[in-house]
Amino acid sequence: MDGTSSQAGGGGALRRAALAVRRWFDTEAGGGDADDDGIDWVRVVPFIGMHLMCFGVFFTGVSPIALWTALALYALRMFAITAFYHRYFSHRAFRTSRVVQFVFGVIGASSVQRGPLWWAAHHRHHHRHADTEHDPHSPRAGFLRSHMGWFLTRAGFRADRSRVRDLERFPELRLLDRFDVLVPIALATALFLWGGWLQRNHPELGTSAAQMLVWGFFVSTVVLFHATVTINSLAHRWGRRRYDTHDDSRNNAFLALITFGEGWHNNHHHFPGSARQGHRWWEFDLSWYVLCVLAALRIVSDLKAVPAEAQRLSRKHPASTKVLDVRDELRRERGNP
Ligand SMILES: [Zn+2]
Ligand SMILES: [Zn+2]
Repeated sequence: MDGTSSQAGGGGALRRAALAVRRWFDTEAGGGDADDDGIDWVRVVPFIGMHLMCFGVFFTGVSPIALWTALALYALRMFAITAFYHRYFSHRAFRTSRVVQFVFGVIGASSVQRGPLWWAAHHRHHHRHADTEHDPHSPRAGFLRSHMGWFLTRAGFRADRSRVRDLERFPELRLLDRFDVLVPIALATALFLWGGWLQRNHPELGTSAAQMLVWGFFVSTVVLFHATVTINSLAHRWGRRRYDTHDDSRNNAFLALITFGEGWHNNHHHFPGSARQGHRWWEFDLSWYVLCVLAALRIVSDLKAVPAEAQRLSRKHPASTKVLDVRDELRRERGNP
């Protein structure tokens, strides 16, 4: 009896492991396990492996071109995550063409932070339930949990797609979301080949295939990842609160610097619909500045700024800082129902 059940248990564990491996490549493999809050260790092997590969710097050495590549890919992908995954896909804070939407969806996917549908669905859920028991990544549940534990679980692997029906209309986004891992694999392969080509044709640069792969992909991606998720962990703990929002969000200049403006997180929770997160001229918001340039070039349009009333009302009525409250106030002031 015991032997039979342990055999069945072993078979179940094997099946779960095989499913986890399939999910490395196909995020829609298997059914839903939305209630399983345990970390899926087999599925997150690539995530752990990405961190371990950073130790490769001790074997490959470094060169200026490898460092610059890492930096450039950090900047490009941080912009794709903050301006597009966050402000565009999650909050619809501006408009753009279907082609540009897809291009930045692909660049965002190269950050190994899943596809735009998964990212936006979880983020919209966060805004709806910020720092309550339903928030997937509130630091009230612990720093590590909010920083990365939440999406390493089986439940976190899934997203509530009913929150992103507007994005699901695009088959190319659904496909990107399902096989998102192919994008970083393509980027890593391209970096490896380029590094090898440089080594053969420009040996004076002092780089190699392995060095370009380690710096350009692994180091850049891991630093980018941890910088991004400080907004879930640190930006709900560390900084000042300008607005009395119904959550723990903070404004933090250092986090704003490394995340191109996302560190003004209390501003953002106060008025999430804006493409601009710095509410004062001195609040550095690089993604906003770049979006303004793209708007001048007509690549994006209808950038939603922060209405002056939103700031004025929040000062006049410090209690009514929930976004919906502010919008209701604005509608009332304009005489609309
Ligand atoms: Zn938040
Ligand atoms: Zn947001």
